[in-house]
Amino acid sequence: MEKYVPDIYQKSIYDINYNKLKHNGIKCLLFDLDNTLVPYQDKQPTTKVIELFNNLKKQGFKVVLFSNSSRKRLKPFKDMLEVDCCARACKPSPKKFTRVIEELEFNISEVAIIGDQILTDVLGGNKVGITTILINPISKKDYFLTYFNRFREKYKIKKLSKMDLFYKGRYYE
Ligand SMILES: [Mg+2]
Repeated sequence: MEKYVPDIYQKSIYDINYNKLKHNGIKCLLFDLDNTLVPYQDKQPTTKVIELFNNLKKQGFKVVLFSNSSRKRLKPFKDMLEVDCCARACKPSPKKFTRVIEELEFNISEVAIIGDQILTDVLGGNKVGITTILINPISKKDYFLTYFNRFREKYKIKKLSKMDLFYKGRYYE
């Protein structure tokens, strides 16, 4: 069950302590897109997201969009945020995690994934051994295929809470 537990859990991407991550040796941040940066219906990043990404890049982080969505969906985000992206990442499969990390020449210990889903973002990241950061989904609305995952996730969280491993809303870093 530990593979479902994030290393860090915060309310949103704006509540993460990026200085601490940097201090702990993290150099590359993989960001999920849907319900992590923006609601899944939004077609472009908000000013707030653009500002955060500019700051992260200024701090020296390599920032990558790492999403299960299509290249077409990612394109305006890639262009406006000026970052690399990996579309159709097939999370929680470790395959593309490993490929991206190897291509960018980072060590496992230097990479973190930030996302809103335990069953894709956290599970995938834990499989490859990178730092996993869970945030709450921005919107209650999900892509229709995600509804099934959310249902499974709810059940998983219940189980994790019973085992004293994870509680929704109890943030830690
Ligand atoms: Mg997501």
